[in-house]
Amino acid sequence: EHPQEKINWCQYHGQWKPGVPAAEYSFVEQVDGRGVFSFCMCPGGILVPSSTEPGTIVLNGMSNSGRTGKFANAGVVVQIEPEDVPGDGPLKMMDFQHKVESDMYKYTLGAGASNPMAAPAQRMEDFCLGKLSKTMPETSYHPGVVSAPLHMLLPEMVASRLQKAFPRVKMRNYYTNAALLLAVESRTSSPVRVPRNQETYEYVSMPGVYPCGEGAGYAGGIVSSAMDGINVAAACAAAI
Ligand SMILES: Cc1cc2nc3c(=O)[nH]c(=O)nc-3n(C[C@H](O)[C@H](O)[C@H](O)COP(=O)(O)OP(=O)(O)OC[C@H]3O[C@@H](n4cnc5c(N)ncnc54)[C@H](O)[C@@H]3O)c2cc1C
Repeated sequence: EHPQEKINWCQYHGQWKPGVPAAEYSFVEQVDGRGVFSFCMCPGGILVPSSTEPGTIVLNGMSNSGRTGKFANAGVVVQIEPEDVPGDGPLKMMDFQHKVESDMYKYTLGAGASNPMAAPAQRMEDFCLGKLSKTMPETSYHPGVVSAPLHMLLPEMVASRLQKAFPRVKMRNYYTNAALLLAVESRTSSPVRVPRNQETYEYVSMPGVYPCGEGAGYAGGIVSSAMDGINVAAACAAAI
């Protein structure tokens, strides 16, 4: 999460004026054979708690239509392939995701935060240099934050790639200690996929059942979920 004014300054070359839309950004990097990229950047947005079960911390970002908030946020995704995670059970990627989310919760609990949904957080440059942040900047995330060594708390394959990616982003003001990293946005795509017949869209072992959308592993985001929904609805209608 950055102050929106820093992103405006960079993207409008110092010429942003009230009434001009809040600036956006995106980036893609390749680090050690895996993609690292910004995800769902929300200009003038806020960070919101998005856990779906007790004992875990999950964050997501959103903007209201005016995009007039003080902060710019984006998820930063590190691509993870099944071979990156030990084990071979069909749900191992889900277990991996769950562990990351519960590690964040345990850290917050151990740090004695007054709100159990407070997010472990670290300033961006501190994260890349492996230093605990001594102070926390203002944030849009209502439950608040606790200073945390995210460079150690996140899985090594994720932290090390983020540490290399942030300084490389070719955008002035991006790599700055004014930016706060809050953990963790871990629901960018489904960690499992329910197999389905490519033509009928039915679940392979149960005809008449139509796995669809993000939870079934066929979409990640509003538009791809909607498109998958249209395809599945058409296949379903054709079968009736
Ligand atoms: C805070 C937040 C911000 C986001 N911002 C963006 C963004 O900026 N851009 C973007 O592209 N994506 C964004 N997303 C992701 C996007 O919302 C999802 O990718 C998309 O909604 C997935 O669509 P879906 O139809 O697959 O699932 P969902 O929208 O989750 O729909 C599943 C539906 O199934 C219902 N359901 C669940 N269980 C049952 C049951 N047993 N019986 C009956 N109904 C059930 C649920 O109530 C729900 O209505 C955001 C998500 C969150 C949480």
